[in-house]
Amino acid sequence: MENVIVIRYGELYLKGKNRAFFERLLIKNIKYKLKKFDCELEVGRSRYLVKNYAPVQENEIIAALGTVFGIHSMSIAVCVPNDYETLEKHVISTAPASGTFRVSVNRGDKRYPINSITLSAKLGEAILRANSNLSVDLHNPRNTVWVDVRENGTAYIYCKIIDGLGGMPVGSAGRGLLLLSGGIDSPVAGYMMAKRGMSFDVLHFHSYPYTSEQAKNKVMKLASILKDYCGKIRMYSISATKIQEAIHKCCSDSYMITILRRFMMRLAEKTAQKLECGCIINGESLGQVASQTLESITVTNDTVKTMPVFRPLIGMDKQEIINISEKMGTYETSILPYEDCCTVFLPESPVTRPTIAKTKEEENKILNYNELLSEAFDNLELVKIF
Ligand code: ATP
Ligand code: MG
Repeated sequence: MENVIVIRYGELYLKGKNRAFFERLLIKNIKYKLKKFDCELEVGRSRYLVKNYAPVQENEIIAALGTVFGIHSMSIAVCVPNDYETLEKHVISTAPASGTFRVSVNRGDKRYPINSITLSAKLGEAILRANSNLSVDLHNPRNTVWVDVRENGTAYIYCKIIDGLGGMPVGSAGRGLLLLSGGIDSPVAGYMMAKRGMSFDVLHFHSYPYTSEQAKNKVMKLASILKDYCGKIRMYSISATKIQEAIHKCCSDSYMITILRRFMMRLAEKTAQKLECGCIINGESLGQVASQTLESITVTNDTVKTMPVFRPLIGMDKQEIINISEKMGTYETSILPYEDCCTVFLPESPVTRPTIAKTKEEENKILNYNELLSEAFDNLELVKIF
């Protein structure tokens, strides 16, 4: 008797003619995760099996598959000979201890002498005889005992379902540019887009020497955690120091963040074009801070002309964002207390209802604005490929 891991996929079912494309990507992403284990992946219709792995690695394999978008759920199944007596013995040991259940038989081998309905009923009766704490509920059971009768004289039996991440396979929805700060929100924004199948590169703005090496390392750490979910990530950085000094010197204090964010968005668009990313992704959430009111977003969004800006957290509460950040494993790093460039020269009362006209008026006070923009872009640096 050996164990196998059954992998099921979710929303791909909905895909018509394109389904093969999504499946190929999902299989590729699963194989990539399984590379470090000694095991086999068997690809079947609508579900896959991980076989021939060392039992001590089972939990690690499940954890690795738990980072793959596109997997709906997994089960650990026992693989046994499919003669009736053996099946009976193993459904009894797999069944839950109490509550309602049903047996669901899938006969991959149609030559098997007992048909699915009869086999389900017989196995169900056997389970009931062995455990009087159980009762059958065919329509809404708390547990299902699955029996998958295979062609090669074996069967898989399982009961527990382990949730996968759901979503779509990464790589199926194009590539974006994620603006990654050291905060809680932007890693979650990347994760949410990856969940819909998007891969991305990362751009970080630093204000060295006002921001430290530790602040940069923190962002690198966040990118390396994101990589577990999103595949290859190229991390770039740009210095925002000179523009911040210029804004501080020339512009009204309350417009500091608004003007800085417009500068960042212009650079993000140029960088995305250069890297052939089709959109910008950021971690803004409506009303969370002064720079994320409708008016502020209107003013910063105004600078981006050639691509959409995706804000997957726009309608989420902070606590919801924190919950995801804890689940994905970035929270502990995000709360380390290193400064971000947006916190350098922080104004006492940032404007919450800026207008485009007034912002442009302030921006125009920086006479060498375009030079600063070109210079910053010229210094775009590839930090690391994760
Ligand atoms: P976060 O927790 O992601 O830092 P926040 O709530 O602190 O977000 P802001 O500082 O206003 O909000 O930033 C909003 C978004 O702008 C961030 O989610 C991120 O996408 C982007 N951003 C902010 N600072 C930087 C930075 N230094 N480098 C790259 N992107 C940034
Ligand atoms: Mg921030």
